[in-house]
Amino acid sequence: MKTIWPLTTWLAAVAVPLGLAAEASAQPSNRDQAAIGLWNLANTKSQTHRFSTLLTAQDVRDRLSSEDGISAAIDWCRKTGVTKVYMEAFRDGYQAKREALQNAKQLFRAAGFEVSGCVTTTRVGKRSTGWNGISCYTDQPTQERLQRIFEYAAGLFDEIMIDDFWFTDCQCPQCDAARKAKTVTVGERTYPVAGAAWEDYRCELMVRVSQERLLVAAKRVNLKARLIIKYPQWYDQFHERGYEVLRETADFDRTWVGTETRNYDDKQWGGTPQYEACFIMRWLGGIGGQKCGGGWYDPYGTNERTYLEQARQTVLGGARESMLFCYGSLLEHTGPKNIETLRQNIPELLAVAEQVGHRRIIGVTAYKPANSHPENERRVFDFVGMLGLPLVPCHEFPADAPAAFCSLHAMKDPDLPAKLARFIASGKPVLLTDGLADRLAGKVDLSSPNVHRLPVKGDPQSLLKRPQAELDAMRAAILRPLGHTFRTPNRVALYLFADGSWVIENFRDEVANVELDGTTQTVPPRGWLLHWKP
Ligand SMILES: [Zn+2]
Repeated sequence: MKTIWPLTTWLAAVAVPLGLAAEASAQPSNRDQAAIGLWNLANTKSQTHRFSTLLTAQDVRDRLSSEDGISAAIDWCRKTGVTKVYMEAFRDGYQAKREALQNAKQLFRAAGFEVSGCVTTTRVGKRSTGWNGISCYTDQPTQERLQRIFEYAAGLFDEIMIDDFWFTDCQCPQCDAARKAKTVTVGERTYPVAGAAWEDYRCELMVRVSQERLLVAAKRVNLKARLIIKYPQWYDQFHERGYEVLRETADFDRTWVGTETRNYDDKQWGGTPQYEACFIMRWLGGIGGQKCGGGWYDPYGTNERTYLEQARQTVLGGARESMLFCYGSLLEHTGPKNIETLRQNIPELLAVAEQVGHRRIIGVTAYKPANSHPENERRVFDFVGMLGLPLVPCHEFPADAPAAFCSLHAMKDPDLPAKLARFIASGKPVLLTDGLADRLAGKVDLSSPNVHRLPVKGDPQSLLKRPQAELDAMRAAILRPLGHTFRTPNRVALYLFADGSWVIENFRDEVANVELDGTTQTVPPRGWLLHWKP
Protein backbone atom coordinates (compact mmCIF):
# COMPACT_ATOMS: atom_id res chain seq x y z
CA MET A 1 0.00 0.00 0.00
CA LYS A 2 1.84 3.06 -1.20
CA THR A 3 -0.86 5.71 -1.13
CA ILE A 4 -1.43 7.73 1.99
CA TRP A 5 -4.09 10.28 2.75
CA PRO A 6 -3.23 13.82 1.76
CA LEU A 7 -2.17 15.81 4.80
CA THR A 8 -5.23 18.07 4.51
CA THR A 9 -7.56 15.07 4.68
CA TRP A 10 -5.74 13.73 7.69
CA LEU A 11 -5.78 17.10 9.46
CA ALA A 12 -9.51 17.37 8.84
CA ALA A 13 -9.93 13.86 10.16
CA VAL A 14 -8.24 14.56 13.46
CA ALA A 15 -9.88 17.96 13.80
CA VAL A 16 -13.48 16.75 13.74
CA PRO A 17 -15.21 14.64 16.34
CA LEU A 18 -15.76 10.94 15.75
CA GLY A 19 -18.75 10.29 13.53
CA LEU A 20 -18.28 13.35 11.37
CA ALA A 21 -15.04 12.11 9.88
CA ALA A 22 -16.65 11.01 6.62
CA GLU A 23 -17.92 14.53 5.86
CA ALA A 24 -14.44 15.94 6.26
CA SER A 25 -12.77 13.87 3.56
CA ALA A 26 -13.43 13.98 -0.19
CA GLN A 27 -15.15 10.68 -0.99
CA PRO A 28 -13.46 7.97 1.00
CA SER A 29 -14.41 4.32 0.74
CA ASN A 30 -16.10 2.61 3.68
CA ARG A 31 -12.76 1.10 4.59
CA ASP A 32 -11.08 4.50 4.55
CA GLN A 33 -13.91 5.95 6.60
CA ALA A 34 -13.40 3.27 9.23
CA ALA A 35 -9.66 3.92 9.23
CA ILE A 36 -10.08 7.67 9.59
CA GLY A 37 -12.56 7.10 12.39
CA LEU A 38 -10.09 4.81 14.17
CA TRP A 39 -7.21 7.26 13.85
CA ASN A 40 -9.46 10.04 15.09
CA LEU A 41 -10.61 7.94 18.05
CA ALA A 42 -7.06 6.85 18.87
CA ASN A 43 -5.94 10.48 19.04
CA THR A 44 -8.90 11.46 21.19
CA LYS A 45 -8.19 8.65 23.67
CA SER A 46 -4.40 8.76 23.63
CA GLN A 47 -4.16 10.20 27.15
CA THR A 48 -6.16 7.25 28.49
CA HIS A 49 -4.59 4.53 26.41
CA ARG A 50 -2.31 4.63 23.43
CA PHE A 51 -1.33 2.10 20.78
CA SER A 52 2.26 2.34 19.56
CA THR A 53 4.66 0.31 17.47
CA LEU A 54 8.39 -0.17 17.08
CA LEU A 55 10.41 0.22 13.91
CA THR A 56 13.52 -1.87 14.48
CA ALA A 57 16.94 -0.69 13.31
CA GLN A 58 16.51 -3.10 10.40
CA ASP A 59 13.04 -1.64 9.67
CA VAL A 60 14.64 1.82 9.64
CA ARG A 61 17.16 0.57 7.10
CA ASP A 62 14.78 -1.50 4.94
CA ARG A 63 11.45 0.28 5.25
CA LEU A 64 12.07 3.88 6.32
CA SER A 65 14.90 4.86 3.98
CA SER A 66 12.63 5.94 1.10
CA GLU A 67 9.71 8.36 0.91
CA ASP A 68 7.44 5.53 -0.26
CA GLY A 69 8.49 3.36 2.63
CA ILE A 70 7.85 6.09 5.17
CA SER A 71 4.47 6.89 3.59
CA ALA A 72 3.47 3.23 3.76
CA ALA A 73 4.48 3.01 7.42
CA ILE A 74 2.55 6.17 8.29
CA ASP A 75 -0.48 4.82 6.45
CA TRP A 76 -0.30 1.48 8.29
CA CYS A 77 0.00 3.20 11.66
CA ARG A 78 -2.98 5.47 11.02
CA LYS A 79 -5.12 2.53 9.94
CA THR A 80 -4.09 0.66 13.11
CA GLY A 81 -4.88 3.53 15.49
CA VAL A 82 -1.17 3.74 16.33
CA THR A 83 -0.31 7.28 17.42
CA LYS A 84 3.24 6.78 18.71
CA VAL A 85 6.26 5.08 17.16
CA TYR A 86 9.60 4.04 18.61
CA MET A 87 12.47 4.17 16.11
CA GLU A 88 15.36 1.94 16.92
CA ALA A 89 18.96 3.10 16.78
CA PHE A 90 20.62 -0.28 17.40
CA ARG A 91 19.85 -4.01 17.21
CA ASP A 92 21.83 -7.18 16.49
CA GLY A 93 25.11 -5.37 15.96
CA TYR A 94 23.58 -2.95 13.45
CA GLN A 95 23.36 0.79 14.12
CA ALA A 96 20.70 2.62 12.06
CA LYS A 97 21.94 5.59 10.02
CA ARG A 98 21.58 9.01 11.60
CA GLU A 99 20.14 10.57 8.42
CA ALA A 100 17.52 7.83 8.05
CA LEU A 101 16.43 8.18 11.67
CA GLN A 102 16.31 11.98 11.52
CA ASN A 103 14.36 12.04 8.26
CA ALA A 104 11.83 9.43 9.39
CA LYS A 105 11.44 11.14 12.76
CA GLN A 106 10.72 14.48 11.11
CA LEU A 107 8.14 13.05 8.69
CA PHE A 108 6.32 11.05 11.37
CA ARG A 109 6.22 14.10 13.65
CA ALA A 110 4.86 16.23 10.81
CA ALA A 111 2.15 13.63 10.30
CA GLY A 112 1.02 13.98 13.91
CA PHE A 113 2.84 11.11 15.63
CA GLU A 114 4.79 11.03 18.85
CA VAL A 115 8.27 9.65 18.14
CA SER A 116 10.73 8.10 20.60
CA GLY A 117 13.85 5.96 20.26
CA CYS A 118 14.78 2.40 21.15
CA VAL A 119 17.91 0.32 21.64
CA THR A 120 18.12 -3.46 21.64
CA THR A 121 21.29 -4.68 23.29
CA THR A 122 21.93 -7.73 21.11
CA ARG A 123 25.37 -8.43 19.59
CA VAL A 124 26.88 -5.48 21.41
CA GLY A 125 30.37 -6.88 21.95
CA LYS A 126 32.07 -9.88 23.52
CA ARG A 127 29.70 -12.83 23.24
CA SER A 128 28.11 -14.35 26.31
CA THR A 129 28.73 -18.03 26.88
CA GLY A 130 24.93 -18.39 27.11
CA TRP A 131 22.16 -17.06 24.84
CA ASN A 132 23.06 -16.24 21.29
CA GLY A 133 23.20 -12.47 20.80
CA ILE A 134 23.73 -11.67 24.50
CA SER A 135 26.99 -10.03 25.59
CA CYS A 136 29.52 -10.25 28.41
CA TYR A 137 29.25 -6.97 30.33
CA THR A 138 32.15 -7.76 32.63
CA ASP A 139 34.24 -7.01 29.54
CA GLN A 140 35.25 -3.33 29.59
CA PRO A 141 35.45 -2.81 25.78
CA THR A 142 31.88 -4.19 25.59
CA GLN A 143 30.77 -1.70 28.26
CA GLU A 144 32.40 1.10 26.28
CA ARG A 145 30.74 0.02 23.04
CA LEU A 146 27.42 -0.10 24.89
CA GLN A 147 27.94 3.44 26.17
CA ARG A 148 28.62 4.72 22.63
CA ILE A 149 25.35 3.16 21.44
CA PHE A 150 23.33 4.91 24.15
CA GLU A 151 25.13 8.20 23.57
CA TYR A 152 24.24 7.90 19.88
CA ALA A 153 20.58 7.18 20.65
CA ALA A 154 20.40 10.00 23.21
CA GLY A 155 21.72 12.42 20.59
CA LEU A 156 18.66 11.62 18.48
CA PHE A 157 15.82 11.01 20.95
CA ASP A 158 14.60 12.33 24.31
CA GLU A 159 13.05 9.02 25.24
CA ILE A 160 14.67 5.63 24.64
CA MET A 161 13.04 2.25 25.18
CA ILE A 162 15.37 -0.70 25.86
CA ASP A 163 14.10 -4.02 24.53
CA ASP A 164 14.20 -6.97 26.91
CA PHE A 165 17.65 -8.27 26.03
CA TRP A 166 19.22 -6.00 28.65
CA PHE A 167 20.62 -8.88 30.70
CA THR A 168 23.55 -11.26 30.78
CA ASP A 169 23.97 -14.97 31.26
CA CYS A 170 27.71 -15.07 30.63
CA GLN A 171 29.85 -17.53 32.62
CA CYS A 172 33.19 -16.87 30.95
CA PRO A 173 36.40 -17.04 33.07
CA GLN A 174 36.41 -13.23 33.40
CA CYS A 175 32.83 -13.20 34.72
CA ASP A 176 33.51 -16.17 36.97
CA ALA A 177 36.58 -14.52 38.52
CA ALA A 178 34.64 -11.31 39.19
CA ARG A 179 31.76 -13.31 40.70
CA LYS A 180 34.13 -15.15 43.04
CA ALA A 181 35.87 -11.87 43.94
CA LYS A 182 32.39 -10.39 44.62
CA THR A 183 33.36 -7.24 42.74
CA VAL A 184 31.72 -5.42 39.85
CA THR A 185 33.97 -3.17 37.79
CA VAL A 186 32.65 -0.37 35.60
CA GLY A 187 35.46 1.64 34.05
CA GLU A 188 37.58 3.02 36.91
CA ARG A 189 35.07 2.16 39.62
CA THR A 190 34.50 -1.02 41.58
CA TYR A 191 31.47 -2.05 43.62
CA PRO A 192 31.06 -4.80 46.20
CA VAL A 193 28.61 -7.65 45.54
CA ALA A 194 26.45 -8.99 48.36
CA GLY A 195 26.90 -12.70 47.63
CA ALA A 196 28.83 -15.16 45.48
CA ALA A 197 25.88 -16.56 43.51
CA TRP A 198 25.57 -15.81 39.82
CA GLU A 199 22.36 -13.89 40.44
CA ASP A 200 24.10 -11.66 43.00
CA TYR A 201 26.87 -10.81 40.57
CA ARG A 202 24.62 -10.30 37.56
CA CYS A 203 22.12 -8.11 39.39
CA GLU A 204 24.89 -5.86 40.75
CA LEU A 205 26.62 -5.80 37.35
CA MET A 206 23.49 -4.84 35.41
CA VAL A 207 22.46 -2.23 37.99
CA ARG A 208 25.90 -0.55 37.96
CA VAL A 209 26.41 -0.76 34.19
CA SER A 210 22.89 0.68 33.74
CA GLN A 211 23.67 3.58 36.05
CA GLU A 212 26.98 4.55 34.49
CA ARG A 213 27.03 3.35 30.91
CA LEU A 214 23.37 4.02 30.13
CA LEU A 215 21.68 6.56 32.39
CA VAL A 216 24.56 8.90 33.24
CA ALA A 217 26.05 8.61 29.76
CA ALA A 218 22.77 9.31 27.94
CA LYS A 219 21.91 12.30 30.14
CA ARG A 220 25.40 13.73 29.63
CA VAL A 221 24.68 13.87 25.90
CA ASN A 222 21.05 14.95 26.24
CA LEU A 223 19.78 16.39 29.51
CA LYS A 224 16.23 15.49 28.52
CA ALA A 225 17.05 11.84 27.81
CA ARG A 226 14.63 9.46 29.57
CA LEU A 227 15.36 5.74 29.53
CA ILE A 228 12.70 3.03 29.71
CA ILE A 229 13.64 -0.43 30.91
CA LYS A 230 11.36 -3.05 29.37
CA TYR A 231 11.13 -6.14 31.55
CA PRO A 232 10.70 -9.47 29.77
CA GLN A 233 7.69 -11.71 30.17
CA TRP A 234 9.76 -14.43 31.99
CA TYR A 235 9.36 -12.81 35.43
CA ASP A 236 10.44 -15.80 37.52
CA GLN A 237 13.99 -15.68 36.12
CA PHE A 238 14.65 -11.94 36.12
CA HIS A 239 17.24 -11.99 38.90
CA GLU A 240 19.03 -15.03 37.45
CA ARG A 241 20.05 -12.95 34.44
CA GLY A 242 20.51 -9.64 36.21
CA TYR A 243 17.10 -7.95 35.97
CA GLU A 244 16.84 -6.45 39.47
CA VAL A 245 13.29 -5.07 39.43
CA LEU A 246 13.48 -2.98 42.58
CA ARG A 247 16.78 -1.17 42.01
CA GLU A 248 16.45 -0.88 38.26
CA THR A 249 12.91 0.42 38.54
CA ALA A 250 14.17 3.02 41.01
CA ASP A 251 17.05 4.02 38.72
CA PHE A 252 15.35 4.11 35.32
CA ASP A 253 13.00 6.90 34.29
CA ARG A 254 10.22 4.57 33.24
CA THR A 255 9.46 0.84 33.07
CA TRP A 256 7.70 -1.37 30.54
CA VAL A 257 6.18 -4.83 30.73
CA GLY A 258 6.45 -7.80 28.37
CA THR A 259 2.94 -9.24 27.98
CA GLU A 260 3.71 -11.77 25.24
CA THR A 261 1.71 -14.93 26.04
CA ARG A 262 1.14 -16.34 22.53
CA ASN A 263 -0.50 -19.73 21.84
CA TYR A 264 -0.39 -21.98 24.88
CA ASP A 265 -0.06 -25.09 22.69
CA ASP A 266 2.51 -23.70 20.24
CA LYS A 267 5.51 -26.05 20.04
CA GLN A 268 8.07 -23.25 19.80
CA TRP A 269 6.49 -20.43 21.79
CA GLY A 270 3.86 -22.09 23.97
CA GLY A 271 3.46 -22.93 27.65
CA THR A 272 2.35 -19.52 28.93
CA PRO A 273 -1.35 -19.15 29.76
CA GLN A 274 -3.11 -15.95 28.75
CA TYR A 275 -3.64 -14.69 32.32
CA GLU A 276 0.09 -14.10 32.70
CA ALA A 277 -0.09 -10.86 30.71
CA CYS A 278 -2.49 -9.40 33.26
CA PHE A 279 -0.54 -10.77 36.22
CA ILE A 280 2.85 -9.41 35.18
CA MET A 281 1.34 -6.09 34.12
CA ARG A 282 -0.18 -5.65 37.59
CA TRP A 283 2.87 -6.99 39.45
CA LEU A 284 5.38 -4.72 37.72
CA GLY A 285 2.80 -1.94 37.73
CA GLY A 286 2.73 -2.23 41.51
CA ILE A 287 6.52 -1.95 41.69
CA GLY A 288 6.78 0.86 39.14
CA GLY A 289 3.69 2.92 40.03
CA GLN A 290 3.48 5.98 37.79
CA LYS A 291 6.78 4.99 36.16
CA CYS A 292 5.15 1.99 34.53
CA GLY A 293 4.35 3.04 30.99
CA GLY A 294 2.63 0.07 29.37
CA GLY A 295 2.70 -3.42 27.96
CA TRP A 296 4.34 -4.91 24.90
CA TYR A 297 3.32 -7.92 22.85
CA ASP A 298 4.18 -9.44 19.48
CA PRO A 299 2.67 -11.72 16.82
CA TYR A 300 5.11 -14.66 17.18
CA GLY A 301 3.40 -17.98 17.82
CA THR A 302 -0.05 -16.37 17.85
CA ASN A 303 -3.26 -16.49 15.86
CA GLU A 304 -5.95 -13.79 15.73
CA ARG A 305 -7.60 -15.06 18.89
CA THR A 306 -4.51 -15.31 21.05
CA TYR A 307 -3.16 -12.03 19.69
CA LEU A 308 -6.38 -10.31 20.75
CA GLU A 309 -6.21 -12.05 24.13
CA GLN A 310 -2.77 -10.51 24.68
CA ALA A 311 -4.30 -7.12 23.92
CA ARG A 312 -7.22 -7.68 26.31
CA GLN A 313 -5.04 -8.94 29.16
CA THR A 314 -2.64 -6.02 28.74
CA VAL A 315 -5.53 -3.56 29.04
CA LEU A 316 -7.10 -5.45 31.98
CA GLY A 317 -3.66 -5.29 33.60
CA GLY A 318 -3.98 -1.51 33.71
CA ALA A 319 -1.49 -0.63 30.95
CA ARG A 320 -1.62 2.95 29.71
CA GLU A 321 -0.01 2.02 26.40
CA SER A 322 0.11 -1.09 24.21
CA MET A 323 3.32 -1.42 22.21
CA LEU A 324 2.82 -3.61 19.15
CA PHE A 325 6.14 -5.25 18.38
CA CYS A 326 7.05 -4.62 15.61
CA TYR A 327 6.10 -2.98 12.33
CA GLY A 328 8.18 -5.32 10.14
CA SER A 329 6.95 -8.50 11.84
CA LEU A 330 3.34 -7.35 11.73
CA LEU A 331 3.54 -7.17 7.94
CA GLU A 332 4.46 -10.86 7.69
CA HIS A 333 3.12 -14.34 8.48
CA THR A 334 0.31 -14.07 11.06
CA GLY A 335 0.81 -10.30 11.44
CA PRO A 336 -1.68 -8.95 8.88
CA LYS A 337 -4.55 -11.16 10.11
CA ASN A 338 -3.76 -10.30 13.72
CA ILE A 339 -3.74 -6.61 12.95
CA GLU A 340 -7.01 -6.81 11.01
CA THR A 341 -8.63 -8.34 14.11
CA LEU A 342 -6.97 -5.85 16.42
CA ARG A 343 -8.17 -2.89 14.35
CA GLN A 344 -11.76 -4.10 14.66
CA ASN A 345 -11.35 -4.39 18.43
CA ILE A 346 -9.44 -1.20 19.21
CA PRO A 347 -12.56 0.90 19.94
CA GLU A 348 -13.66 -1.65 22.55
CA LEU A 349 -10.13 -2.00 23.97
CA LEU A 350 -9.87 1.78 24.37
CA ALA A 351 -13.26 1.86 26.08
CA VAL A 352 -12.20 -0.93 28.46
CA ALA A 353 -8.89 0.82 29.19
CA GLU A 354 -10.87 3.91 30.15
CA GLN A 355 -13.09 1.91 32.52
CA VAL A 356 -10.17 0.00 34.06
CA GLY A 357 -8.08 3.15 34.40
CA HIS A 358 -10.21 4.78 37.07
CA ARG A 359 -11.09 1.66 39.03
CA ARG A 360 -9.25 -0.27 41.72
CA ILE A 361 -9.03 -4.04 41.34
CA ILE A 362 -9.91 -6.26 44.27
CA GLY A 363 -9.45 -9.95 44.85
CA VAL A 364 -7.09 -12.51 46.27
CA THR A 365 -3.72 -10.93 46.90
CA ALA A 366 -0.96 -12.91 45.18
CA TYR A 367 2.43 -12.45 46.80
CA LYS A 368 5.56 -12.62 44.64
CA PRO A 369 8.50 -10.89 46.35
CA ALA A 370 11.04 -9.28 44.02
CA ASN A 371 13.89 -11.59 42.98
CA SER A 372 12.05 -14.58 44.42
CA HIS A 373 12.78 -18.15 43.40
CA PRO A 374 9.99 -20.22 41.87
CA GLU A 375 11.64 -23.60 42.53
CA ASN A 376 9.23 -26.13 41.00
CA GLU A 377 6.27 -23.72 40.98
CA ARG A 378 7.40 -21.63 38.06
CA ARG A 379 4.85 -18.95 37.09
CA VAL A 380 2.19 -20.62 39.21
CA PHE A 381 0.34 -17.27 39.49
CA ASP A 382 -0.55 -17.37 35.79
CA PHE A 383 -2.22 -20.74 36.22
CA VAL A 384 -4.04 -19.78 39.42
CA GLY A 385 -5.52 -16.80 37.54
CA MET A 386 -6.80 -19.24 34.91
CA LEU A 387 -8.77 -21.03 37.66
CA GLY A 388 -11.17 -18.11 38.03
CA LEU A 389 -9.56 -16.63 41.13
CA PRO A 390 -9.31 -12.84 40.69
CA LEU A 391 -5.73 -11.99 41.70
CA VAL A 392 -4.26 -8.77 43.05
CA PRO A 393 -0.52 -9.21 42.41
CA CYS A 394 1.85 -7.66 44.93
CA HIS A 395 5.55 -7.70 45.87
CA GLU A 396 5.12 -6.98 49.59
CA PHE A 397 3.36 -9.20 52.10
CA PRO A 398 -0.38 -8.45 51.89
CA ALA A 399 -1.10 -8.12 55.60
CA ASP A 400 -4.32 -6.14 55.04
CA ALA A 401 -5.71 -8.27 52.19
CA PRO A 402 -9.15 -9.88 52.56
CA ALA A 403 -7.74 -13.15 51.14
CA ALA A 404 -4.24 -14.23 50.11
CA PHE A 405 -2.45 -16.71 47.89
CA CYS A 406 1.15 -17.71 48.62
CA SER A 407 3.49 -20.08 46.79
CA LEU A 408 7.13 -21.14 47.23
CA HIS A 409 8.09 -17.68 45.94
CA ALA A 410 7.11 -16.29 49.34
CA MET A 411 10.05 -18.13 50.94
CA LYS A 412 12.18 -15.21 49.72
CA ASP A 413 10.64 -13.24 52.59
CA PRO A 414 12.69 -14.05 55.74
CA ASP A 415 9.76 -12.99 57.96
CA LEU A 416 7.20 -15.11 56.15
CA PRO A 417 6.41 -17.51 59.03
CA ALA A 418 5.57 -14.69 61.46
CA LYS A 419 3.63 -12.67 58.90
CA LEU A 420 1.69 -15.68 57.69
CA ALA A 421 0.90 -16.80 61.24
CA ARG A 422 -0.62 -13.38 61.96
CA PHE A 423 -2.61 -13.51 58.72
CA ILE A 424 -3.97 -16.95 59.55
CA ALA A 425 -4.84 -15.83 63.08
CA SER A 426 -6.99 -13.04 61.61
CA GLY A 427 -9.32 -15.72 60.25
CA LYS A 428 -9.10 -14.55 56.64
CA PRO A 429 -8.78 -17.28 54.00
CA VAL A 430 -5.32 -18.11 52.73
CA LEU A 431 -4.52 -20.42 49.84
CA LEU A 432 -1.09 -22.07 49.99
CA THR A 433 0.53 -24.22 47.35
CA ASP A 434 1.26 -27.74 48.58
CA GLY A 435 4.97 -26.98 48.06
CA LEU A 436 4.89 -24.00 50.41
CA ALA A 437 2.68 -25.76 52.96
CA ASP A 438 5.16 -28.65 53.14
CA ARG A 439 8.05 -26.23 53.58
CA LEU A 440 6.28 -24.41 56.43
CA ALA A 441 5.41 -27.57 58.35
CA GLY A 442 6.61 -27.17 61.91
CA LYS A 443 7.19 -23.41 61.47
CA VAL A 444 3.60 -22.19 61.08
CA ASP A 445 0.42 -23.81 62.39
CA LEU A 446 -1.55 -24.61 59.23
CA SER A 447 -4.33 -26.58 60.93
CA SER A 448 -6.79 -23.68 61.00
CA PRO A 449 -9.89 -24.14 58.76
CA ASN A 450 -9.17 -20.88 56.89
CA VAL A 451 -5.95 -22.38 55.48
CA HIS A 452 -6.49 -24.05 52.10
CA ARG A 453 -4.05 -26.15 50.17
CA LEU A 454 -3.64 -25.99 46.38
CA PRO A 455 -2.31 -29.26 44.90
CA VAL A 456 0.31 -27.99 42.45
CA LYS A 457 2.47 -31.11 42.85
CA GLY A 458 5.44 -29.32 41.36
CA ASP A 459 3.62 -29.02 38.05
CA PRO A 460 1.74 -25.70 37.70
CA GLN A 461 0.48 -26.65 34.23
CA SER A 462 -1.50 -29.51 35.79
CA LEU A 463 -3.76 -26.92 37.45
CA LEU A 464 -5.47 -26.40 34.08
CA LYS A 465 -6.80 -29.96 34.42
CA ARG A 466 -8.50 -29.51 37.82
CA PRO A 467 -12.25 -30.29 37.65
CA GLN A 468 -14.92 -27.64 38.14
CA ALA A 469 -16.42 -29.17 41.30
CA GLU A 470 -13.08 -28.92 43.08
CA LEU A 471 -12.51 -25.35 41.85
CA ASP A 472 -16.03 -24.23 42.79
CA ALA A 473 -15.50 -25.42 46.36
CA MET A 474 -12.12 -23.71 46.58
CA ARG A 475 -13.43 -20.40 45.19
CA ALA A 476 -16.41 -20.49 47.55
CA ALA A 477 -14.03 -20.57 50.51
CA ILE A 478 -11.42 -18.11 49.24
CA LEU A 479 -13.83 -15.47 47.84
CA ARG A 480 -16.15 -15.41 50.88
CA PRO A 481 -14.70 -12.23 52.48
CA LEU A 482 -14.95 -10.46 49.12
CA GLY A 483 -18.70 -11.07 49.08
CA HIS A 484 -18.64 -12.90 45.75
CA THR A 485 -19.35 -16.39 44.51
CA PHE A 486 -18.13 -17.70 41.17
CA ARG A 487 -18.92 -21.09 39.68
CA THR A 488 -17.16 -21.86 36.42
CA PRO A 489 -15.19 -24.49 34.56
CA ASN A 490 -11.40 -24.18 34.37
CA ARG A 491 -9.79 -21.55 32.09
CA VAL A 492 -12.34 -18.80 32.70
CA ALA A 493 -10.85 -15.78 34.46
CA LEU A 494 -12.55 -13.24 36.71
CA TYR A 495 -11.56 -9.60 37.28
CA LEU A 496 -13.23 -7.71 40.13
CA PHE A 497 -13.27 -3.99 40.85
CA ALA A 498 -13.89 -2.18 44.10
CA ASP A 499 -17.12 -0.52 42.89
CA GLY A 500 -18.76 -3.84 41.98
CA SER A 501 -17.78 -3.80 38.30
CA TRP A 502 -16.50 -7.06 36.86
CA VAL A 503 -15.09 -8.73 33.76
CA ILE A 504 -15.18 -12.43 32.90
CA GLU A 505 -12.96 -13.74 30.11
CA ASN A 506 -13.42 -17.20 28.63
CA PHE A 507 -10.23 -18.81 27.29
CA ARG A 508 -12.07 -21.98 26.26
CA ASP A 509 -13.02 -22.89 22.70
CA GLU A 510 -16.63 -23.48 23.75
CA VAL A 511 -19.29 -21.37 25.47
CA ALA A 512 -18.78 -21.10 29.23
CA ASN A 513 -21.91 -21.14 31.37
CA VAL A 514 -20.82 -19.57 34.63
CA GLU A 515 -22.56 -18.28 37.75
CA LEU A 516 -21.40 -15.06 39.36
CA ASP A 517 -23.08 -14.11 42.63
CA GLY A 518 -25.94 -16.48 41.86
CA THR A 519 -26.65 -15.09 38.37
CA THR A 520 -25.99 -17.25 35.33
CA GLN A 521 -23.82 -15.68 32.62
CA THR A 522 -23.04 -17.08 29.20
CA VAL A 523 -19.57 -16.18 27.99
CA PRO A 524 -18.88 -16.79 24.29
CA PRO A 525 -15.93 -18.99 23.27
CA ARG A 526 -12.71 -16.96 23.58
CA GLY A 527 -14.86 -13.97 24.47
CA TRP A 528 -15.39 -11.69 27.43
CA LEU A 529 -18.27 -10.12 29.35
CA LEU A 530 -17.88 -6.58 30.65
CA HIS A 531 -20.02 -5.16 33.42
CA TRP A 532 -19.29 -1.57 34.45
CA LYS A 533 -21.13 0.14 37.27
CA PRO A 534 -22.25 3.58 36.13
ZN1 LIG B 1 31.72 -12.96 30.62
